[in-house]
Amino acid sequence: LNVGIVGGGAIGLASAHYLARAGAEVTVIEQGRCGEGASQGNAGWITPTLSGPIPAPGVMRQAIRWMGDPASPLLIRPRASLDFARWCWGFWRSCGEQRYREGMRAVLALNERTMELYDELRQAGIGMELHETGLLFVALDAAHLSEYERMFDDLRAAGHGGTATRMDADEVVKFEPALHPAVAGGIHAPGERHVRPETLTAGLLADLRARGVQVLEGAAVQGVAQDSGRWTVRGSFRTRVFDKILLTAGAWTGQLLRQLGTKVGLEGAKGYSLTAAGTGTRPAHALYFTEAKVGCSPFRDGVRLAGTLELAGLDLSPNARRSGALADSARRYLADWEPGGAAQAHWAGLRPTAPDGLPYIGAVPGSAGAYAATGHAMLGITLAPATGALVAQLMLGEQSPDVLRPFRLDR
Ligand SMILES: Cc1cc2nc3c(=O)[nH]c(=O)nc-3n(C[C@H](O)[C@H](O)[C@H](O)COP(=O)(O)OP(=O)(O)OC[C@H]3O[C@@H](n4cnc5c(N)ncnc54)[C@H](O)[C@@H]3O)c2cc1C
Repeated sequence: LNVGIVGGGAIGLASAHYLARAGAEVTVIEQGRCGEGASQGNAGWITPTLSGPIPAPGVMRQAIRWMGDPASPLLIRPRASLDFARWCWGFWRSCGEQRYREGMRAVLALNERTMELYDELRQAGIGMELHETGLLFVALDAAHLSEYERMFDDLRAAGHGGTATRMDADEVVKFEPALHPAVAGGIHAPGERHVRPETLTAGLLADLRARGVQVLEGAAVQGVAQDSGRWTVRGSFRTRVFDKILLTAGAWTGQLLRQLGTKVGLEGAKGYSLTAAGTGTRPAHALYFTEAKVGCSPFRDGVRLAGTLELAGLDLSPNARRSGALADSARRYLADWEPGGAAQAHWAGLRPTAPDGLPYIGAVPGSAGAYAATGHAMLGITLAPATGALVAQLMLGEQSPDVLRPFRLDR
């Protein structure tokens, strides 16, 4: 079977890996360089504990409170667009308690094999910089931590077996000496991991090349069409024909699906990061600054701060105020680590996000042989191996795996 994959981010590359492993003849078509979309400068957390979808009870209230503050973790730039209005309406409807819990249960089920699959990828020789020090939620206000304790209660109620240890102010600073003495406490989830995402995509790409997968870079897909039961893919390269196609073009997937007559709600939820060797005491754990909603990932040769969620269409332009806000929030939680001057790498990426916060993984309705996997929002690195493994089953098997039912495109 001859499969064409449009988009070489974490989701496309992981899917290519499992499809090639199962015997498919795979071609990855990427408009830029593989791994240089949203999958590049993110925090790299592998965190099934964050399976709760973005639309959640209380989120709208919080969003409205933040609206006037240009440095807040959430920024919505209203656009005169019917699609955007529909997306916002869908998001608002998804914030109810029941839908949140259903979404969490569905994503937890998708995450069930995440750690096992990451271990398997490493055993298969895919090199990556992986850290197994857990995730530490940190708060400046002890009362704020209860919100995350409730999240762990919800996770347990949904069948998640991971443990979490609550620490008071003294305990948490002893456990992570890089923290500011003013922090009020923390919760450590020891089973969580983080990976330097650039090493994950580079490792997958090297593996694909070794398996003989064709990788076209600098190849922008302009059109996909079905012709006598096969799929023709056209663009800035020699036209290719495939038995089946998989659309993993991240925040841009909606445009390709439209050509197939399928409309899905998909926004690019922009986020920023800055990465620097910095000066001062480096954290030893991945940290979540809970009030600021900023992630902090220590890598071998630097520390990355990542966060903010900005709804501004497919616009990737930088915003100095947002990057500055990341460094400011780190100063409130860290004792003396500073990103430093010129050697900081600033980055922005678009998280592909559906109004209900759940990924789209499934067949394209009415287009036999076409599939899509996108909408992973905050969890594309966490969910890349699970998505890839299930996409291979979906595209090569007789029927869709049950666990994918909540993620179908026509839900
Ligand atoms: C600040 C920030 C922090 C984050 N932190 C985490 C985290 O800690 N853990 C986690 O799990 N997730 C995190 N995420 C989310 C994660 O980065 C995304 O969910 C994930 O990278 C999405 O992967 P993707 O392959 O779907 O998209 P992308 O990586 O964007 O890949 C899509 C690719 O398709 C290509 N493409 C688009 N259109 C075409 C076309 N027409 N022709 C050919 N190619 C095309 C693009 O160039 C791109 O390379 C974070 C995101 C941000 C922004």
